[in-house]
Amino acid sequence: MQTHIEPIARMIEQLAKLPGIGSKTAQRLAFFILSMEENEVRQLAEAIYLGKKKVHACAVCGNLTDQDPCAICTDPRRRDDVLCVVSDARDLLAMERTREFRGRYHVLGGTISPMEGIGPDQLRIRELVTRIGRSEVKEVILATNPDVEGEATAVYLAKLLKPLGVKVSRIAHGVPVGGDLEYTDEVTLGRALEGRREM
Ligand SMILES: [Zn+2]
Repeated sequence: MQTHIEPIARMIEQLAKLPGIGSKTAQRLAFFILSMEENEVRQLAEAIYLGKKKVHACAVCGNLTDQDPCAICTDPRRRDDVLCVVSDARDLLAMERTREFRGRYHVLGGTISPMEGIGPDQLRIRELVTRIGRSEVKEVILATNPDVEGEATAVYLAKLLKPLGVKVSRIAHGVPVGGDLEYTDEVTLGRALEGRREM
């Protein structure tokens, strides 16, 4: 029985590590890459490698950036008194697509999930508290996903932040329970932001 020669087997093995890519798809991608022009393959490989090398978390908000602080943190047209807390950089992009929010962000780097062993210490919560303490933030909008972990994280943060003297609100209407901000359309998410309730 003919099996894959070693270099192809290696390509398939690496590609199959990507999310949503099973071994069949990995094989299809590997053969497609082999059919590409050499310079195209180099561009693909370089884009992946340089992306990884250049992109890091913003020291202020935790957003993914290739400059520090990121473009949102340094934008003088954005409001400093409202802070929107999201789980990850993809949710930040979802909020940005609504074009409704003109404040700053804080990216937690995940949600509290005892099942996966993720507690407050694994998230950028200490940074959030420090940041609120030394800035002019008056309102914190909790925009974690409306699923179990997202809700638990919001409740935890509300308890922690309210004694700091800031208004804490939670995006509410429209985002389906158990839903994912990343896949919520911008009109719905924009309304959810507008209809946020105080915690
Ligand atoms: Zn930033």
